[in-house]
Amino acid sequence: MSKKERYQIISRKFRPQTFASVIGQEVIVTTLKNALRKERLAQAYLFCGSRGTGKTSLARLFAKALNCEHLTEDFEPCNTCSSCIDIAKARSLNVLEIDGASNRGIDDIRQINETAGYATLTGKYKIYIIDEVHMLTKEAFNALLKTLEEPPPNVKFFFATTEAHKILPTIISRCQRFDLKRLSTEEIKTKLKGIALELEAQIEDAALALIAQKSEGSLRDAESLLDQVICFGEEKITLDLISSHLGVLSKDYFFRLDEAIFLNDLSFGFTLVKELFDSGKDVSSFIETLMEHFRTLLCLKFPKSSTTPTFLSEEERKKYQQSALKYEKDQLLYILDYLVSWASKLQKSSERLYLEMILLHILRSKHRITVDQLCKRLLTLETGKEPEDEKPIPSPIIFEEPIKETAPVREEKVKEGPSLEEKLLSAIKAKIANPPPLPKEAPPEMPVEKKIEAPVIKKIQTTQPKLTIEEQSKYDSIIRFAAIELEGTIKE
Ligand SMILES: [Zn+2]
Repeated sequence: MSKKERYQIISRKFRPQTFASVIGQEVIVTTLKNALRKERLAQAYLFCGSRGTGKTSLARLFAKALNCEHLTEDFEPCNTCSSCIDIAKARSLNVLEIDGASNRGIDDIRQINETAGYATLTGKYKIYIIDEVHMLTKEAFNALLKTLEEPPPNVKFFFATTEAHKILPTIISRCQRFDLKRLSTEEIKTKLKGIALELEAQIEDAALALIAQKSEGSLRDAESLLDQVICFGEEKITLDLISSHLGVLSKDYFFRLDEAIFLNDLSFGFTLVKELFDSGKDVSSFIETLMEHFRTLLCLKFPKSSTTPTFLSEEERKKYQQSALKYEKDQLLYILDYLVSWASKLQKSSERLYLEMILLHILRSKHRITVDQLCKRLLTLETGKEPEDEKPIPSPIIFEEPIKETAPVREEKVKEGPSLEEKLLSAIKAKIANPPPLPKEAPPEMPVEKKIEAPVIKKIQTTQPKLTIEEQSKYDSIIRFAAIELEGTIKE
């Protein structure tokens, strides 16, 4: 046999042949095995789930187990009996696979109904596996319904679909339904690692992680991507090779961006965009990777949470941990917010310019002042004392409640009249509600106050306390900052 004839695509070659080798669907596998153990079998089974999660593989495996001549003690198909071999080679006369997309008419279903009546030849059950069953026409579904209502003995139907909502409820109610979950990046990576080992392919761990991450829960996508990169014929498949194949920038650029943000090196924004465009990388996938990068950094700020990324290699994790030290949590949240709001606005015509703007904005994020920091600084300025950490500084949400109720501690301190902080917050609210006109000769870098939306103004209470002239002038510049900061933060 020549090499060419022996070649089989990875997803077919490594299709699970036993329940034990099915990944990520433990609950369903247990249920199916229990059905075999107790011999409590439904007439029809419906396997739902997004592409590449293993619906037909599972249906085929169950069919094999049902007809196996020597089922193991653990209810696994033996894979050696004639029935198992015939099913594996897709030549079984008892297990028939039908593609619902190309056999969707009433005549196709009538044919099934007619043949279903005949007894099975050798095995125990006659099983029809209909893939993409949602593609059947309404007439075809109705014809199928008749058979499902009065099924011939020993006939089973296994349906697979990516769009269960398109199947008639009368069909669904006659099926035992299984919803397959998307596979985690870690599960896919582990499977790919096993495949690479068996194929004796040298692939970097980080490269496998990237393939797994990019396949978004679809094992089949991951396997076909692995197939492609193995075909490159390289001695060792590296992360760079995969990155270049997928059209994404090497991770190193993102770590360099972290450094540039930390050092306030704006020029790196232009360097990065130049590199991206010179190498012809896809901008939307760059933004996506950029968001993933900052998301990973943010996740590392919550070390005990379940969101901690598990798919990173040891080396990558170290790099991410170092980078995470360069950021405050608020800063990362801000960058992600900013990227999300801009990701959809990127116009093809001026992609480059927008991208440079986005990067410059992110590069300056370290020096951005949050409302909390603003209030703290002002308090320090007014009282000459550092505010204690355990006393919560009112966040913008406080505007929905009277200030007195949320700041009882400070009320005790300043017995006569509202505290300085309260005065400031009221002043900010009042200023936002009635923004003063900007001076005519405002310096060009002065941020322009934008209009706050009407519902937001309504929400703001407008009792402005009396401020001294000195206080007034001191607050004015801060208020202008605050007005800009608060825009977009206050929501209905
Ligand atoms: Zn067998």
